[in-house]
Amino acid sequence: TEPLLKVEGLKKYFPIKSGLLGKVNNHVKAVDDVSFTVQEGETLGIVGESGCGKSTTGRMLMRLLEPTEGNVTFDGQELTSLTNSEMRKVRRDIQMVFQDPYASLNPRHTIEKILMEPLNVHDIGDPKERKRKVHEFLEIVGLSSYHAKRYPHQFSGGQRQRIGIARALMTNPKLIIADEPVSALDVSIQAQVLNLMQDLQRDLKLTYIFIAHDLGVVRHISDRVGVMYLGKMAELASTEDLYEKPLHPYTQALLAAVPVPDPEFVREEVVISGDVPSPANPPSGCRFHTRCPFKMDICSEVVPIFAEVEKGHSVACHLYEESRPQ
Ligand code: SF4
Ligand code: MG
Repeated sequence: TEPLLKVEGLKKYFPIKSGLLGKVNNHVKAVDDVSFTVQEGETLGIVGESGCGKSTTGRMLMRLLEPTEGNVTFDGQELTSLTNSEMRKVRRDIQMVFQDPYASLNPRHTIEKILMEPLNVHDIGDPKERKRKVHEFLEIVGLSSYHAKRYPHQFSGGQRQRIGIARALMTNPKLIIADEPVSALDVSIQAQVLNLMQDLQRDLKLTYIFIAHDLGVVRHISDRVGVMYLGKMAELASTEDLYEKPLHPYTQALLAAVPVPDPEFVREEVVISGDVPSPANPPSGCRFHTRCPFKMDICSEVVPIFAEVEKGHSVACHLYEESRPQ
């Protein structure tokens, strides 16, 4: 079946201006030719270190940031060519949940007013229906309607993220892009919010893109996981394949850093050294070559192709024949 979301060749280049005339002489290639699909009802995890382009990718899907190049097809509609007013309608169906709910909730507004806003913006229901819906969704995310008259500062971090989730749900979206929704929360609270998100997905038939900086967080919630490095997709596979038989040296290194729950399962450790290079000046060829323990001559010269190596398992690495240009 047709995927709910199809992303093809997505790029975001930010110009770097310099000198008195502000001449553009370089670009930060924040996202550089990223493609993937998301099926209805599934969760795609996108993982990578800060600066890998995962948040930029998420924002471009909703056109909160304009892509430099590429296509985004959502529910049969190509989004990058829509006018602003056409795009506003689509934003009913795609909503975002942010890392820091406190920063995204107006401190001077009551929760009721905050949750009402998307209904006002999209002109959904009359005032009475809107109020009813606010109370309904407060309950759905595990809060109570008596919380409606309170202000964001009166809630804990976990409760605030529940409010952020409720706000995203108000318009009955199909797709939720959650950008590190639990990264700012205590570990014990993380599990509660993840469980809530899974319950909501099942009950409301939601599709998720779940962005995170570590592979541990997305494992249980994702059907498939993509790993990004310096603006490129390094590997994408079913969650099982990615964690059991990672192909890309970067994924292998990230997994070596995740605590293994089963002590009998010992992974051969791939250790990477050094910092992430600047996306303004990414390494030639494979962008990971400056840190890769398996680097070969070809790696600094030729960009590996992101190619399907096994069914549903794609990777961009010269260790695999499919990635080497003919
Ligand atoms: Fe390492 Fe080369 Fe593969 Fe890049 S292409 S990950 S440098 S082996
Ligand atoms: Mg980010």
